[in-house]
Amino acid sequence: MADPPKPKACPICGKETVERFRPFCSRRCTDVDLNRWLSGVYAVPVSADEEEDELPLAPDQGPH
Ligand SMILES: [Zn+2]
Repeated sequence: MADPPKPKACPICGKETVERFRPFCSRRCTDVDLNRWLSGVYAVPVSADEEEDELPLAPDQGPH
């Protein structure tokens, strides 16, 4: 009882993957995944010039 390995589905659109574009099915889905990375969905944004942004709240936010 040895089932042949099923082709994995593209994580972007769910279609069958193509070996050339693994783990995706096409160049388009590769770009979609890359855009997700670039838009910071996966990665933590690097803040170089935002040292003053570390304070969560300004101290002068008193009660209204
Ligand atoms: Zn796809």
